[in-house]
Amino acid sequence: MKPPLDRSTIWPYEGGEPGPFHYARNAHPTGVAAERALGELEGGHALLFASGMGATTALALTLLAPGDTVALAQDAYYGTGVLFRELERFGLRHVLFDQTGPPPPDVQLVWIEAPSNPLLTLPDLAAAAAHPAPVVCDSTAATPLHLRPLEHGCDYALHSATKYLAGHHDALLGAVVCRDPARAARLHEVRSRTGIVAAPDAAWLLLRGLKTLEVRVERQTTTARELAERLAGHAAVDLVRYPGFGGLLSFDVADAAAAHAVETSLTTITNATSLGGVDSTLESRHRWEPERVPPGLLRLSVGLEPVDTLWADLSDALAGI
Ligand code: PLP
Repeated sequence: MKPPLDRSTIWPYEGGEPGPFHYARNAHPTGVAAERALGELEGGHALLFASGMGATTALALTLLAPGDTVALAQDAYYGTGVLFRELERFGLRHVLFDQTGPPPPDVQLVWIEAPSNPLLTLPDLAAAAAHPAPVVCDSTAATPLHLRPLEHGCDYALHSATKYLAGHHDALLGAVVCRDPARAARLHEVRSRTGIVAAPDAAWLLLRGLKTLEVRVERQTTTARELAERLAGHAAVDLVRYPGFGGLLSFDVADAAAAHAVETSLTTITNATSLGGVDSTLESRHRWEPERVPPGLLRLSVGLEPVDTLWADLSDALAGI
C-alpha cells in the first residue's frame, strides 16, 4: 500500500533533538517511501529531485568543479546540453562524443543516455563503464524494466521521472540512483543545500505510478514494436528509429511541411511535448533542436490506447501529406 500523503514541512523534535524528518527540504516521509520503491527497482539508493533537469543540475554541482570537462553524448536530451552550455559561465566545460563508441579520455564525468531522445541511439555501456571517470546514464526512456545502468557498471542512473516512472503527465519529478552510500549521502547533502527537492505530492504520484510501471511499459513496448513495423512499411515514411524496446520511437516524413501536416491532423494522439505517459503524444522535435534533428522527424511516445486506434490515427494523418 502507498503511505498516506504527508505535506508537512516540519516535524516536532524528539526530546529536544531533530529526528529523521525535521524539515521537508532535507527529507519527507512520502519522498523517502518513493525513493525506497525506486531504489529497489534500480538496485541502489534513490534520491528524488524537483525535475529531471533538477537531478542533472544537482549531479553537475556535486561531481564537477571549475575547469572540469564532461564528455556528453551528442545525442543526449537537448536540455542536458543546454544546461551544460549554461554552466560554462562557471568554468565547466563539455565535449560531445558519439556514445555508440568509447568516451574521450581526460574528462572528469561521462554522460550517456539509453536510448537517446529523440534519435534513439544506444550507448556502448561497456566502453563507458571502462572509463576512469564517473558515469551517469540517463535511462529515462529505457525505464528499469528494460535497463538497469548500475548493473552495467554505471555509477549513476538518472531519470526524468516526469516520464515513464510517474507515467500520467501529471507530475514533474527527477531521480538519481547510485550504489555507493557515500556518493548518495553527498548528493543528498547538495540536494538539501540547493533545495532542488521533490514535493510530497509529486513523490506520492510516483509511488502510484510505480505500481503500474511494469504493465504500462510492457503494453507500450508491444504497441510501439507493432507501430514501428507498420510505419517502416508506409510509403510516406522515410526512416523509423526504434531500439526494439520501450514506448518511444521517431520517424521521418519528407520535410517540415509534411511533419506539420501530420502534427495538426492527429485526433487521438495529442500533439504535445514530453513522453512516457498513458496518453500518446507526438511532436516535431525540429522546432526545439533544429541544429541536429531533421525537419521531418516526428517523435512518438506510445501510450496505452489500442494499437489499431493509434495506427488509424497515424495512417489517416500520413495519408494527408
Ligand atoms: N532526460 C530526458 C531523456 C528527457 O527526455 C527529459 C525531458 O524531456 C529530461 C531528462 C529532463 O526532465 P524534466 O523535463 O523532468 O526536467
